[in-house]
Formats: sequence, structure tokens, C-alpha cells
Amino acid sequence: MAYLNYDEIVSAIQIFAERYPALASRVSLPNLTAESRRVEAVAIGRTRSADQRTAIFVGGVHAREWVPPDALVGLAADLLEAYSSGTGLRYGSTYFDKSTIASIVDDMQIVILPCANPDGRVFSQNVDGDWRKNRRPLLNHQGGVCHGVDINRNFDVAWDFRLHFAPGGVSASDDPCHKYLYVGPAAASESETRNIVWLLDSLPGTGWFVDVHSAIPAVFHSWGLDSNQTADPEQNFLNPAFDGIRGNPDDTYGEFITEVDLDTVRSLARAMKDAITLVAGDDYSVGPAFELYATSGASDDYAYSRHLARPGLPKVLGFTMECGHEFQPDDSGRETTIKEVCAALLAFCGKVNSPDA
Ligand SMILES: [Zn+2]
Repeated sequence: MAYLNYDEIVSAIQIFAERYPALASRVSLPNLTAESRRVEAVAIGRTRSADQRTAIFVGGVHAREWVPPDALVGLAADLLEAYSSGTGLRYGSTYFDKSTIASIVDDMQIVILPCANPDGRVFSQNVDGDWRKNRRPLLNHQGGVCHGVDINRNFDVAWDFRLHFAPGGVSASDDPCHKYLYVGPAAASESETRNIVWLLDSLPGTGWFVDVHSAIPAVFHSWGLDSNQTADPEQNFLNPAFDGIRGNPDDTYGEFITEVDLDTVRSLARAMKDAITLVAGDDYSVGPAFELYATSGASDDYAYSRHLARPGLPKVLGFTMECGHEFQPDDSGRETTIKEVCAALLAFCGKVNSPDA
């Protein structure tokens, strides 16, 4: 089966809402892309409301990573079909019985945004398979035009990397012509970024956020800004005393996270990894996102940072799943990776939905 194009992704969302009106609603996000596309999500659950306990799953932030949008459409289809027919779901040797499926749909809201960056996907699937950013035209430093912002460097968490990080300490660029890592002209400057912020703002019941990327394979939890530490709350991304030194693994600065939160995010990440292993035997790594490299302005850190930057906002635990081994695998690799993403995210829901989570 070929990869879904963006029109097919939108059609799938429409079909879910029409076929399962009691269980699924289309959510049209407010900000059009530079090429005037509407970004669409689907909310799944018996009770779909702003205050319902919610997990948000996002894919397609990076255009060339073709599997995550297909996997998230597949997850929505599987979940709706299994719940409606009163069955369980199997991915390889990972099995979710019908009561687990029922309790996820009965007791939670799952908001799935399969393709956050449709302009990028269209460009990647038709012009340049290696395209990662969105497609906004921007003036470069020489007065010419370059295209695209890396959405996963554009969120408002330590976005100004030259201020917050040590020189060379972070995977980011302020050159609009950088093919992969341009952070954008301002924090949350991009429609695609603001759509995800809007979801978090409008769904205060959200407790969990998973951004699905490819391809390492790995499951990452907080933080991506710097190495974790649980001893000194003063060492945190909001404290200007540590500007200019973040992102270096070999210094004394570490990003603060409470022991409770660190235990929780580790155990949720491990639950995803364990479910994946049973699909086809692959061994995903688990760890803080910083183990890959330091990131500024990334979605997972932004989601978790919100309750710290603006006290009063609910806490959202943020994750990045890096599925599979290739950006655009062949049919068999695609199918296996889709099953791994579905298994991981349902295991994640099962865990947050269980009484001991
Ligand atoms: Zn990515």
C-alpha cells in the first residue's frame, strides 16, 4: 500500500467522524498553512470535551518522515473499529483485550493530529523526498527567498538558542536557508506550531502529549534542553543565570525535573518500548531526549514546560517517539512500523488509564 497523501488523510478524518458520530469528531485547526491548507485532527472518545482527560498524539511535523501520519490514521481506524465491534486489537504479540480498548474510549479523549505540516508532506511526496520543514517563504540574509521553518525548533521553550544555549550546544539554526533546522523568525511564528499550541490551550484536560517522528528507533521523554537533574530547582530553562551554558553535557548545569515526574515519564516510555518489542522484536532505546542531542523549541519540551512557564496551566507530560529505521521504508517496513506506533500509543493510553498509573 502506498503512503497516504494529504487529501487522503483529511478524507480519512472525515470518514471517521461520519461513520462513528458517537465516538469521533473532526477538529479543524484555526491556522491555515502558508499554502492555505487547513490542518485537521480527530478527537476520539465517548466524552469529547475540553476538560476530559486527554492524550494528544501528533505526526507529520517533519515532512520527510512519512510513516507517522499513516500510523496515526491507522491507530484511529483500529481503535474506532475495535471499540464499535467489541473486540480487542493485536499487533504481532502485543494484544489489547476488549476491556482495555473499551476503557480507553470510554474514559479518555484521544486527540490525533496525523499530519501537522501538510505543505511539507505535499512537497516531500512530490518534489523533494528529503524535505523536513514547512514551506513558508522567508527572506534570507542576502535578500533572496528560502523556504521553510523547522516546526520542531519553533515552539516557545528556550526558543532563542543563541541566548539560552552554549555556542554550538544545540541542534538549531537561525539561517532561513538551513535546509533542516531553521528555528523561524520568532517563537511560535508558524501556523503549524500555533495549531498545536491551540490544541493544548483549548483542551485543558490534556495530561499527555506524544509527537511521533522517525526514524532512530527510540522513545524519548523529558528533557531535550539539557541532561536531567532532580536536585536543584534553580537550574531550569526560565532562569537567566544559566543562559549561555545550556546544552552542554559535560558541565554542571542540568534541567530540573521532579523525581516523581521523572519516574512517571520513564515508566510510560518503557511501557511504549515494551509494547513495541512484542510487535516484531525490535529493540527501541528509551531515555531523555537530550541523549539524542540538545534541542531548543521542540514540541515535547514545550508541552511539559507550559505548567512551569505559566503556573496555573495543567501539567502535560511530553514525549517524542522516533519510530522505525528509515524515513520512507518499503511496504513491509512501513507496515511493521505502523504496528509498532499503534501498539506503543495504545499501551501508553492503557497505562495512563489504569488505576496505578
Ligand atoms: Zn522528526
